[in-house]
Amino acid sequence: MDYKTIAQLKNDLHTKKISSVELTQSFLKRIKQYDKELNSFITVTEEVALKNAAEADVRIAKGTAVALTGIPMAQKDIFCTTGIKTSCGSKILDNFISPYDATSYKQFKDAGTVLLGKTNMDEFAMGSSNETSYYGPVKNPWDLERVPGGSSGGSAAAVAAYLTPAATGTDTGGSIRQPAALSGITGIKPTYGRVSRYGMIAFASSLDQGGVFARSAEDTALLLNVMAGFDEKDSTSINKPVPDYTKTLNDSLEGLRIGLPKEYFDAGLDPEIEKAIQAAIKEYEKMGAKIINIDLPNTGLSIPAYYVIAPAECSSNLARFDGVRYGYRCKDPVDLEDLYKRSRTEGFGSEVKRRIMIGTYALSAGYYDAYYLKAQKARCLIRDDFVEAFKKVDVIMGPTAPSPAFKIGEKSNDPISMYLSDIYTIAVNLAGLPGMSIPAGFVNNLPVGLQLIGNYFEEAKLLTIAHQYQKNTNWHTMMPKGF
Ligand code: GLN
Repeated sequence: MDYKTIAQLKNDLHTKKISSVELTQSFLKRIKQYDKELNSFITVTEEVALKNAAEADVRIAKGTAVALTGIPMAQKDIFCTTGIKTSCGSKILDNFISPYDATSYKQFKDAGTVLLGKTNMDEFAMGSSNETSYYGPVKNPWDLERVPGGSSGGSAAAVAAYLTPAATGTDTGGSIRQPAALSGITGIKPTYGRVSRYGMIAFASSLDQGGVFARSAEDTALLLNVMAGFDEKDSTSINKPVPDYTKTLNDSLEGLRIGLPKEYFDAGLDPEIEKAIQAAIKEYEKMGAKIINIDLPNTGLSIPAYYVIAPAECSSNLARFDGVRYGYRCKDPVDLEDLYKRSRTEGFGSEVKRRIMIGTYALSAGYYDAYYLKAQKARCLIRDDFVEAFKKVDVIMGPTAPSPAFKIGEKSNDPISMYLSDIYTIAVNLAGLPGMSIPAGFVNNLPVGLQLIGNYFEEAKLLTIAHQYQKNTNWHTMMPKGF
């Protein structure tokens, strides 16, 4: 079917061509029709959606609407939503009804958006394929035998199949950019600190960052306008003015310096993906950009450093799920230790347990210096590579993922090969930089993502670069067959 971008829907709502209730009903209908197969939602909030939509229609009629009032969207099930189940893809939170709102959700609520539901995800956002969810795998709308990417796979698949025009995601090591690439949509992970993490269930706090998925860069700009900004409830949030991200979308790219890191075009990259990326770069040259070859010599350290730091932080963050205060509790514990042990053993899935064990080990006395401290040193080197590179270039480009969407089950028994699917995204989180993935072609009918990496707080520049490409190409307008 034909889809409409948020920018178009906004126009339809404001000119009263359609009401928010009608629009919401049409998306709820699509969810009913297609989501049995895709499994992209954990919870569909039909009642809340219709209530939000009716309120939005009143706001529009009164003339108090803002840009996104009345626009339906979905929230990754990692964002706390008052009165609505927030499972984080885990059995341990299957019964958890949040008593408060995540700041990001509250911002979208205050803007008058409509909550269609909560999307499926890898358990506690640990994964690259959405196969570790307690609620089962999500399917890629481009090929139902394949993964949509992870961990925000439900959000990505739902936007790709147009079950929602937009959805939130989180990116700790690639979980917005990688599923955006594998599902053929646009996703942005802002600079660390640009978007509040309050109420976003923590996986690895020094890496986690919320962001959005949509069908165009312009739409992600509209969404980021709502989501970006300082939050006093998040001590890592940065108090810096937020530009209007839509204002600069049409700036010229004449003279733009694009850095191509040789490490992102290594032997592990599918040659067909490389071709698509090179074609995208050519497109930028036509728009007046200059190519500069750069080195990010410590790229090879990013996967090992990440898989010490992220598990270390997760082992500490997930200590709170103990069967006492909230979430799953085992039946008939004999004593307190049995309660802790069995609640966690029965409540967590195997990938989460693997990470808690690795993290606890890396942080334990005697191993801390050898693993955790060393990983932090590697992290500094990785960041320094980017700082050096951005002295010479305005943006870094390369593939988002080394291969197109893989088959469900193909990598689930091989954690190392799964971890390698984030080889080009993880360094960005270790450095805290903003990154995007935009559709840039197909390989065997499967979408390819072009990654754009910007300097700190240069989201506006990234969005301009993405928007200009989308004005000259139509990859982002393609819809998977059957939806
Ligand atoms: N795939 C990476 C991991 O499994 C990144 C996940 C994420 O960004 N949340 O940790």
